[in-house]
Amino acid sequence: MDNLQVLCARCHRHFTDHPVEFAKWVSKSVGDNVYEYLYKRAHSNVKVDWQAEYERLKEYATTNKIVV
Ligand SMILES: [Zn+2]
Repeated sequence: MDNLQVLCARCHRHFTDHPVEFAKWVSKSVGDNVYEYLYKRAHSNVKVDWQAEYERLKEYATTNKIVV
């Protein structure tokens, strides 16, 4: 959930055109440690187990009563 950012279309467009500014904004909003973790994870060669991720998110939705 730390890797989730909700933006309006205008801000999304702006940050798409200004990725360095986006990185600073994300770092400020989630904190330097979480940002560093997300950055390393995004740039690692570890493959995502999508079936396990699907199960994890399904459990998260059930636990938090999120309707999908
Ligand atoms: Zn906006």
